Amino acid sequence: MSIIENNKIEKVIVPLHTREGMGVGPIRNDFPILDKTIYGKYPLVYLDNAATTQKPRVVVEAMTEEYYNVNANVHRGVHFLSQQATELHEGSRETVRKFLNARSTSEIVFTRGTTESINLVAQCFSDAFMKEGDEVIVSEMEHHSNIVSWQLQQQRKGIKLRVIPITDDGRLRMEEYEKLFSDRTRIVSVTHISNVLGTVNPVKEIIRIAHEHGVPVLIDGAQSTPHMKVDVQESDCDFFAFSGHKIYGPTGIGVLYGKEKWLEKLPPYMGGGEMIKNVSFEKTTFNELPFKFEAGTPDYVASTGLARALDYVSSLGWDAIEAHERDLTAYAMQKMNEIEGMHIFGPKDIEQHDAVISFQVGNIHHLDMGTLLDRLGIAIRTGHHCAEPLMHRLGIEGTCRASFALYNTREEVDALVAGINRVRQMF
Ligand code: PMP
Repeated sequence: MSIIENNKIEKVIVPLHTREGMGVGPIRNDFPILDKTIYGKYPLVYLDNAATTQKPRVVVEAMTEEYYNVNANVHRGVHFLSQQATELHEGSRETVRKFLNARSTSEIVFTRGTTESINLVAQCFSDAFMKEGDEVIVSEMEHHSNIVSWQLQQQRKGIKLRVIPITDDGRLRMEEYEKLFSDRTRIVSVTHISNVLGTVNPVKEIIRIAHEHGVPVLIDGAQSTPHMKVDVQESDCDFFAFSGHKIYGPTGIGVLYGKEKWLEKLPPYMGGGEMIKNVSFEKTTFNELPFKFEAGTPDYVASTGLARALDYVSSLGWDAIEAHERDLTAYAMQKMNEIEGMHIFGPKDIEQHDAVISFQVGNIHHLDMGTLLDRLGIAIRTGHHCAEPLMHRLGIEGTCRASFALYNTREEVDALVAGINRVRQMF
């Protein structure tokens, strides 16, 4: 039976597809927004998770609780509430350390998100280690935040960007990557998973090759942390950036992991309170790691929210999450490929394609597709996805993008497919 009848989406979440050890039904109850009616269509089919994920109650409630019962500025107060808030904030840092398997909390810097984490490295690393003509290797599939941050250093210091090309099906051309190294290469900065193509990049191999050349690597983990277990010691990356809001946590907080040996050598990013040891007009000394990089009052309530989100994900278990999301991606690729005129960008091999599906149907403009699906209560994203150089490479202006999270279901994929077919019939 079609899910869309008389321009109305029936309630689609029963029965829910379940994987071994993981029923999505109870999980959906943790996310109140998923019960929402949009344009009279119930329930919302939210497939814009690569942009931001929805928040479980435990995250919102922990933050509300902190504002109501603990709130006080961290680190500086002798009074009870300040100490309690500091304990929570530093406890959250330990939760992040465990989540990434970093060696020490000194390696965990709180930032506002992936963008700020990458900008921090681009600016501080180029100040410490790069001079005119030195090179950073990025790839053709990067988000603007991992391109423009380096271009700003190009303008400030005259550094150069070298770009790893991609194949037509959206994989890094590893043989070309190896050829980009020169005696001027100082750092490699690449995404773990493409926010457009869903490509899972072989980061361990990328890091191994860079290290053979004595070059450190920054991994943009904005799209990988919500979908797979990350272990910074196992991958041996030198820097790793991610955003709280993409992994069921609050907006406005993110993380930069950096190996201590690198963070120690980098100059501070911003000046202000918290990042100093002593200040005088003659000489200022800086605080120890990680505080050297955390000028001003941190978002200590958001750090609590982030820690609860990471706990939430960990409590469900990576095996179950990965199996569920792989199943959804494979199911969606199969069902979507049956649609006439469908073109899916990115790798066909499901092992290399995770949770993000960019597509184009015939010559239906992505904006039309997105707008009409929205009227059916289905939220997808359209446009260049902050990856204009990738759009140029693919020779397109934009795509439609459906992206999945742990609470999505096969029934929602069916709703998407039915919605796309309906839009197709209108053209
Ligand atoms: N990198 C990638 C791969 C992303 O998908 C995003 C967000 N779309 C970012 C970086 C930037 O993340 P944020 O806006 O949270 O800083």
